[in-house]
Amino acid sequence: MFDALPTLFDGHNDLLLRLWIAEGDPLPALFSGRDRGHLDYPRMRAGGFAGGLFAVFVPPPEWVARQRGIPLADAVAQHDPLAITAAQIALCHRMTAASQGRMRLCLTADDIMACRREGVLAVVLHIEGAGALTDDLQGLAALQAQGVRSIGPFWNLPNAFGEGVRGDFPGSPDTGAGLTAAGERLIAACNQRRIMIDLSHMNEKAFWQTAALSHAPLVATHSNAHALCPQPRNLTDDQLAAIADSDGLVGVNFGTAFLRADGQRNPATPVTEIVKHVEYLIAKLGEDRVAFGSDFDGIQLPDDLGDVTGLPRLLAALTAAGVDRPLLEKLAWRNWLRVLQATWQG
Ligand SMILES: [Zn+2]
Repeated sequence: MFDALPTLFDGHNDLLLRLWIAEGDPLPALFSGRDRGHLDYPRMRAGGFAGGLFAVFVPPPEWVARQRGIPLADAVAQHDPLAITAAQIALCHRMTAASQGRMRLCLTADDIMACRREGVLAVVLHIEGAGALTDDLQGLAALQAQGVRSIGPFWNLPNAFGEGVRGDFPGSPDTGAGLTAAGERLIAACNQRRIMIDLSHMNEKAFWQTAALSHAPLVATHSNAHALCPQPRNLTDDQLAAIADSDGLVGVNFGTAFLRADGQRNPATPVTEIVKHVEYLIAKLGEDRVAFGSDFDGIQLPDDLGDVTGLPRLLAALTAAGVDRPLLEKLAWRNWLRVLQATWQG
């Protein structure tokens, strides 16, 4: 008998950034269909995308200048991390309100389960790079009150809390200083508030500092195996062992530069490259600690996937590689639910 594929809960996407940078009101196109990018409401439904972590991200002024076709000096003058963060969070709230019950902001694992039962698309707010926070962490309570449930302290560039992993391919994740004193305080505060800490952009020093400090499962929402693709953003076997010890999780990133052994951004990358990372991570972490962190709308996808509507092709490739139905369910959503519940509720 034909069993419908499981719908998928995903660890990372950059849709809010794309909606924020778009000209005019981006919400009508979100619900009728965008003519670009990897995600919109109709395509998420068609692909069996049940929801995930939606990142709030303050982009560098250089990126904003290119996207908006404005002088760099103007983009620098407009660069206000607090205001941009607030605008993207407000956009997320407007998005769920405008969805007329089709999308819902989730604050707990029970909320996500309710969405699954009711066929509602689950939205979890994540902060990619806490540039909106000052080192006294004054704004953290407000972010949590607005629905933020996951924070990556920094992206690639330095901020008050540390600096992200940067560097050329091939390269080690050991790129620079780790957490600052404020970064250490942020880890402790997130533990205390039961906000998930995302290790995906941490350099190796920050990773190990977090591993030593944090009481929560170690989670990298959108990273791959360094042994298969020696990108500095990917995780070494020692890092994977620490994640396994903490009963954490890795969300597999679909970006070609994070998948390929040659590190190239190359759309002619077969979907089986994703399968290889899944298999490798299962060998290192076990079946309960691997999931997906697509990075939709933030990376270059394999043409084999194209956009979110390609997800059934990935699940079919995993099935063809011998992944049985119970494991497919774990990869697709059960593992995310387990680790989010453990992090948020203990
Ligand atoms: Zn990222």
